[in-house]
Amino acid sequence: MPYYEMSLENGREYIYENNFDVAEAAMGLWLIVFLDVDWLGYQTLAEQLWEEGDTIPPECGDQDYIEQWQIGYARKVAEWYWHLKSELSPQHPLLKLLVEQQFHNHFHVALQPDPMYELSPEMQRKLQSECLEYMKLIDKPSESGSQCWVHPDYLREWLRFVAQILHQLHDCQQKLTPLLDRVMHGEDENHDSILSRYYALQKFDLPFQCLVESSYRFLSPQFHITKRRKMYRYDKNKVRYYEDEKLEGHTYMATDALHALTIWEFEMVCAHEIQLRRCAHCNRYFIPYSVVNCYCDRPVEGKNGKTCKDIGAMSKHQQKVNRDEAKKLYRKVCNRIQTAAKRRIVQYPDILRQYKEAQLRGQELLEQVETGQITYEEFQEQFDKTTEELLGIPK
Ligand SMILES: [Zn+2]
Repeated sequence: MPYYEMSLENGREYIYENNFDVAEAAMGLWLIVFLDVDWLGYQTLAEQLWEEGDTIPPECGDQDYIEQWQIGYARKVAEWYWHLKSELSPQHPLLKLLVEQQFHNHFHVALQPDPMYELSPEMQRKLQSECLEYMKLIDKPSESGSQCWVHPDYLREWLRFVAQILHQLHDCQQKLTPLLDRVMHGEDENHDSILSRYYALQKFDLPFQCLVESSYRFLSPQFHITKRRKMYRYDKNKVRYYEDEKLEGHTYMATDALHALTIWEFEMVCAHEIQLRRCAHCNRYFIPYSVVNCYCDRPVEGKNGKTCKDIGAMSKHQQKVNRDEAKKLYRKVCNRIQTAAKRRIVQYPDILRQYKEAQLRGQELLEQVETGQITYEEFQEQFDKTTEELLGIPK
């Protein structure tokens, strides 16, 4: 079973949670969360802990001291895992799968190194029971007084694996960020849409081509039926199927390589021309709900729960964007109805006067946007109507 299965259809992310459930969110959300995570920070922590596991002096003969040290080290590694879980899991279903399944399960793999076969059956049993005890500690942070431990070599093997994955993700983040900036915020006049900027990337950018090619090797498509956000394929006796229930079919990409899945979402976001934008306050990416939405919903530190949007709503930058976008829309609508009016002048001799009136009305509304009386959205709602409505002619 692969750790990750995600479908990107209908502008949505569908993520199989490996427990029958399918989580759903707006397409692009994973990309945003992925770019937000401090992968290098987590990698550094895991590496430091890995190094620390090797610091006990080999000539130290004091068995009690060594035992206490090993218990202390095992405790530190458990705390590191709790920290990782509490910070990452709540942010996105894919992060929960990363920490609570891929990282978690690899602990068992780390406990099966070659020397295991050289151990006596008695020693193997002892090791297994130690491992089970330790797993309980990892899963339940409440067991604070626990003295359980496993040998540092196994813990270090686990840390090495986790650090390796974190490194992969950090590397992917570093490569992806400038590419996303180019596609979402590029100011190249020849390529004025997300899709055309993406096309330029795909056609001329060799590092991008390599990144994509190396990622797709890890992905395999799967087709799954879901109902009520439950995977149908596993539910033999768990969930009863009723004839009238709506089934949904989606193509999923299955993989154990989270970085490859991330590259795939980047491509899908470009292909669907989903606009992601950097917040004008914190500079982090978010999904804007309209062309004038410049600030994200993240709370700003030390501002009593106020978000970037609360802080930015009245800013000069926001007002300028509102004005500029309203002017752009005004010109677009005027051009549209002027062309239509000219074409129908024989049929409706009064139509040019109607056009002038609509234009005047637009100017009034535009002034209201400039003085802040109405928002861009209100302007859009009142002015960006159908040609027939604006010119007072039947459909
Ligand atoms: Zn922000």
